[in-house]
Formats: sequence, structure tokens, C-alpha cells
Amino acid sequence: MKIAVLPGDGIGTEIVAEAVKVLRALDLQIEMEEAKVGGAAYEAHGHPLPESTLKLAKQADAVLFGAVGDWKYDKLERSLRPEQAILGLRKHLELFANFRPAICYEELTHASSLKPELVAGLDILIIRELTGDIYFGQPRGRRSAPDGAFAGQPEAFDTMRYSRPEIERIAHVAFQAARKRGKKVTSVDKANVLETFQFWKDVVTEVHTQYPDVELEHMYVDNAAMQLVKAPKKFDVLFTGNMFGDILSDEAAMLTGSIGMLPSASLNARGQGLYEPSHGSAPDIAGQGVANPLATILSAAMMLRFSLNQPEAAERIDRAVKSVLAQGLRTADIYSDGTTKVGTKEMGDAVVARLKAQD
Ligand code: NAD
Repeated sequence: MKIAVLPGDGIGTEIVAEAVKVLRALDLQIEMEEAKVGGAAYEAHGHPLPESTLKLAKQADAVLFGAVGDWKYDKLERSLRPEQAILGLRKHLELFANFRPAICYEELTHASSLKPELVAGLDILIIRELTGDIYFGQPRGRRSAPDGAFAGQPEAFDTMRYSRPEIERIAHVAFQAARKRGKKVTSVDKANVLETFQFWKDVVTEVHTQYPDVELEHMYVDNAAMQLVKAPKKFDVLFTGNMFGDILSDEAAMLTGSIGMLPSASLNARGQGLYEPSHGSAPDIAGQGVANPLATILSAAMMLRFSLNQPEAAERIDRAVKSVLAQGLRTADIYSDGTTKVGTKEMGDAVVARLKAQD
């Protein structure tokens, strides 16, 4: 088993170090090779996704990714900005299926921005298509408006598009994932306004005929945004396109207390995957040793489960994380009265200690 370790920028280096520590504590035969990505790679090699980093990622069974980005790169031309590294990895590795569980741990119900009774026991799986939609659609750019009331004025445009095979393959992923859970898929679209999403809805409905044991519901994205804060527990698998998924998964993250708790997996058809926390590089707290490493540690558990075929090791990490929360240990983002505040490293050490206690 070989994994590419790409810590990136900001808190990325701090949290990935803890996840690596946890993986090492499992005593598995995992070869890990580290490379720069994002702003750190731009500084060292002049590009956020250097050839050497991409090559390493392609050769590995899985990529453990931290986060990229910093405000100081905002003025760089778009192709050189750190965030392009993520888009590049998704594209080159064909990581079309993004899994983001939003689980509210019993100990953290009060850390949610919603009332505890709305989130207690929350367990949603968001499945987001990751390589299509308006984020990758061509053409895009700036031009002089060709027509309309503002003809001749400068304008910018992007293209929203989805092909039938792209929708079909992610719909299969969603229905198959639902089969292993609550057997319900909510497909989120904007079919009332967008042609692309009427097509999405039609194709998802067709694919559903192969999964009669799974319930399918269609929901407009504006309603989904509302239902997520009104009655989030009615979702099982929330399934949607790239842009809607980007927004709704961050909204769902907040239901669980902190974005610092949420792992994610992005997979291709070969089972190769990129595993990363759902949050960014948090430049506001970088270098302070206070970031929550649990989302990254839980991402490492997803990696063991989905790409490295080590479900028992994954289960051990999940149990160790639950156990440190039950012990009352909290990083600043999930801290509340009566619990013990710890830093990034202490949290990683505590997870390792729980793993050793399981031995
Ligand atoms: P962010 O997720 O980095 O931070 C949002 C807020 O959440 C901040 O207050 C931050 O302190 C807090 N936070 C995030 N992770 C945390 C953790 N593990 N522990 C405790 N608190 C945590 O989002 P942002 O501030 O909008 O973006 C910062 C940079 O990250 C930008 O350059 C952005 O482009 C980039 N970004 C990268 C990714 C990625 O690498 N996948 C994702 C989102 C944003």
C-alpha cells in the first residue's frame, strides 16, 4: 500500500502530521511519500500542482491531502492559485465521486448551531459529483456582451453542463451507497429553472429503475438548503451536482458542530481516492497549533476503508475518535464548558493513545 501525503498550506501541515501519526500507530505496511502542493508547491516549484506531485499522486493507491490556499495568493493569475491543485488532482485522477458524511457525534450536539433535538443522531451522507458542472464546463471567460440590454459591455460567463454518462455513473454510486444505509436518495436539482438539471433529474429517474429497493425523492436546491436547517434528519443520502454539493455540504458541516470534524473521500472508478478534511487551510489559525485534526484523522480512516481495503483499521480509528470525545477532549472549535481544551498535537496524541489502548 502506497499513499501520497500532500499536506499543502496553512493548517494543512499541522493536521496531516497528526493523521500520519495515527496511521503509523496502526502498524500496517503502508509506504508514505510526501510532496508539496498548493501555495507551498508554488513557492518551491512555481506551480501549485507540479508534475512530480501529480506523478506521485497517480502512482499511489490513495492521496492523503491537507488543505491549500492563503489570501496572499488571491492576486495570482487563476491557473497558479493554490486551489487549482485540487481541481487538477480531481481532473487528472478522474475523482468524480465525492463522499462527505455529516455525522453529529452525541458529545457534540450542543456545538451545532441548531437545537440539539434537531441534530442528535444526525447521519447524512452527501454524495457530490466532482468533475463536471459549471466548475469545469467550457467555454468560460470574459468578453464583450454579444447581445441583450448590456450588449457591448464587459461580461463574464461560465458554462453549466452534464453529459448522460457523467450523471449515470454518479447516480449508480449514490443508489449503491444508499443500499448500505437507510435506502433513501434525495436527488437535489434546480430542474424548474435549469435545462442541465432537468436532464439530471430525467437521467437519475431512469437509473433509479435499477434500484427498486431504494426510495428516490427529488428536491429543488433552494428547498434542500431550507430542509437542511429545518429537519436535517429526514435526509439519508443527499445526492447532487458539483456546485450545489459544494454549498450544501458546507451547510451540512455546520449542523454537526464544526467543519473541523468532517472527513471526505473523492473516488474514481478504480477505487483510487483522495482523502481530505472538508475544510480549507484556515489561514486565520495556521501556525498556532489549535486546529482540529479529527476531520483529517477520520479522512485517513475513510482511506483505509475505501482505497486500502482495511475496514478493521478504519473502524479502530473511528472508535478511538469517539473515545477521545467521550473523554471530554476538545480543540477550540468544539470546546464548551466542562470539557478539556487541547491543541492539535495533543488531540492527535490522544487518538494514538486510544488506539494503543485497544491493542
Ligand atoms: P476554511 O475552511 O479554511 O476556514 C473557515 C473557518 O473555519 C475559519 O474560521 C477557520 O479557522 C475554521 N476552521 C477550518 N478548519 C478548521 C479546523 N480544522 N479546526 C478549527 N477551525 C477550523 O475556509 P476559508 O477561510 O473560506 O478559506 C481559507 C483558504 O482555504 C482559502 O484560501 C480557500 O480558498 C482555501 N480552501 C481550501 C480548500 C481545500 O484545500 N480543499 C477548501 C476550502 C477552502
